Amino acid sequence: MKEVISKRASFICSNPSCRCLTLCPSEHDVEKFINTGRVAHITAASLGGPRYDSSLTKEQRSSAENGVFLCAVCADKIDKNKGLDYSVELLRKWKSDHENWIKENLNKSPFVSEIAIVDGTHHAKGTGEVTGIDVQGPVIFMPGTQSIAEGTGIITATRISGKGDAMNK
Ligand SMILES: [Zn+2]
Repeated sequence: MKEVISKRASFICSNPSCRCLTLCPSEHDVEKFINTGRVAHITAASLGGPRYDSSLTKEQRSSAENGVFLCAVCADKIDKNKGLDYSVELLRKWKSDHENWIKENLNKSPFVSEIAIVDGTHHAKGTGEVTGIDVQGPVIFMPGTQSIAEGTGIITATRISGKGDAMNK
């Protein structure tokens, strides 16, 4: 069961703000690896545990449906304060969103595709809010990239992961 849940998550933590890899090769033994992944219960296996749901059968509690794949840190975190900070609904959402994300990225490089590459000259001119380059998330600026903004008002040459209306235009 644990193997199925882990593989469905591609051994990547299902917490969308974590997504760390949980497997790596041992440096000292080619036969070994390091595994920091955990299969956590969405609702606890036993009475009094985090998010325990008395309406489930014993089989349902130990089913693949009731498990979410996380890294060791996130698995620890969701059970603190008896699980009060992480609801069943939230963990189910993490799991289904993560599985969709894995499906979308099968045979692709998910981490690479999220990085924007910016190059060339970006020249913005005007009045009001003027922004030369406006990007969100991880970015690589190619050598020689230029960002020029001029005018009157709120002038920004380069904005990275900034906030404001300009992001939605
Ligand atoms: Zn994590």
